[in-house]
Amino acid sequence: MNERIDEGMIECIAPSTGEVIERIPVTRPEGVAAAVARAKVAQEKWAKLSVGQRCAHMLELREHLVGATDRLANVLVRECGKPRQEGVFHEVGLLASLVTHFARRAPKLLESRSFVPGVLKYRRSRVYYEPRGVVGIISPWNFPLLIPFADAFTALFAGNGVVVKPSEHAPLIALEMKKIWDESGLDPDLLQIVPGRGATGQALVESGVAKIVFTGGVETGRRVAAACGAALVECVMELGGKAPVIVCADADVDLTARAITFGGFFNAGQACISMERVLAHESVYDQLVERVVEHTRALRLGGPEGEWDVGPLIFPHQGTVAETLIRDALARGAELRTGGKRAERSGDFFEPTVLAACTNEMRVMREEIFGPVLPVMKVRDDEHAIEVANSIPLGLNAYVFSKKTAHARTLARRLEVGSVVINDVLSDYGTPEAPFGGVKNSGYGRTHGEEALRAMCTTKHVSEDRFAPPIRPWFPYTDLSEGRVRRLVSALFSKKSALSGLVGRI
Ligand code: NAD
Repeated sequence: MNERIDEGMIECIAPSTGEVIERIPVTRPEGVAAAVARAKVAQEKWAKLSVGQRCAHMLELREHLVGATDRLANVLVRECGKPRQEGVFHEVGLLASLVTHFARRAPKLLESRSFVPGVLKYRRSRVYYEPRGVVGIISPWNFPLLIPFADAFTALFAGNGVVVKPSEHAPLIALEMKKIWDESGLDPDLLQIVPGRGATGQALVESGVAKIVFTGGVETGRRVAAACGAALVECVMELGGKAPVIVCADADVDLTARAITFGGFFNAGQACISMERVLAHESVYDQLVERVVEHTRALRLGGPEGEWDVGPLIFPHQGTVAETLIRDALARGAELRTGGKRAERSGDFFEPTVLAACTNEMRVMREEIFGPVLPVMKVRDDEHAIEVANSIPLGLNAYVFSKKTAHARTLARRLEVGSVVINDVLSDYGTPEAPFGGVKNSGYGRTHGEEALRAMCTTKHVSEDRFAPPIRPWFPYTDLSEGRVRRLVSALFSKKSALSGLVGRI
């Protein structure tokens, strides 16, 4: 969605036609504080349910979610210009998949654990995963259903309340999802939506929430992380990406070319895990470029709303970024193989673009594009590919194409990123069982997986006696007591001591 500036209102504009769809009010800081306070009251009741009971409610919600697939896809097509199939599968489908996973696994993953400590054998420890309270979610426009609600639902499974600040460029889908939540019979106060711009997000950070999950650009991320630091609120930072695609000499060129065409142009290239740097081994480079260009030329930009392969960009600025990076690449010797400009039709469509003969000095190889532009660079060998892949400060995800999975895995381990997909596209984000997130400037913390579910909780350690110990190292300190603890430390931790075996093998 496109949006025109009026402080108190957000004007939602369909990117495929430029038409105004709706005007919605911005939530003021007082409204954010009130939403968090209502969510907190509702959360206290929700947290009293067992994890199993919460899972049953979330499965009921999944019925309503899946039942509303067309309704949600229609909003995504209108508000974001997404191809309908991407709305159905990559937004609703993946969200339902995450709910299914946590509904099955959360009772086990959030179970308390108990153990006898290695040294303090007379004690027993119990660790509990307890809800934090209200979690704030600040989200971008590119997957405006999947991203905020995957994080929101993870927080809810863990017993929290949630307040979502959707992107000002795609708030309508969040409001639609909220209607579905309310229709499912769940407590309306437990999940709240506060539409607005940066100031609303800032107010959410400062509202007393127990945790923030932020997804967005690197520069906004720095500001939000600093505000979280000032408020001492724990945060997850899911920031930009610029996925390298290593195409090894033995890659299946047909499969790789189709994968790259999809990975570069799905959601019009507006995905943090889009393929943004193809590093092709010199022995397959020519053939690969030719096939990618062939597949790219076959992509449909026109046709009835939502029936296109590559939809419009969310707003005209994304087209300006693409034009600037293409211009810079061409000036430095890149070859324009197809596309390269805004499409000659109404709406913010941009022709899917393939740039060959790229080099690592070009901006298009170093800066996030977030549009339908695919730069391809020829590399000498896998070492060269790894060196180029790791040469920039972004490290969200990467792809490796090779017929030898073990070899691809070895390369994967050397890439400075949070996840690597071998011989496929996007299956990292589509795996709710696995942690997702970046390294370097791509952020920190994880969404998805048991790591994210448990991190939505605060842990509590309760330590109790198994039996009364012969001595406790308390006051008063005397020469005698000091001698005893000295002997104890030596007995427990010196390799020479017979007792050291009791502490466990180190
Ligand atoms: P953005 O950084 O412009 O905005 C993200 C959100 O932050 C919006 O809701 C915005 O209103 C809010 N915001 C802005 N200023 C704020 C402030 N001072 N305090 C609190 N909130 C504030 O990002 P965008 O343009 O919406 O999204 C595109 C970016 O998101 C790309 O860089 C992309 O790579 C990244 N992204 C990352 C992931 C991931 O999982 N790592 C996923 C999707 C998108």
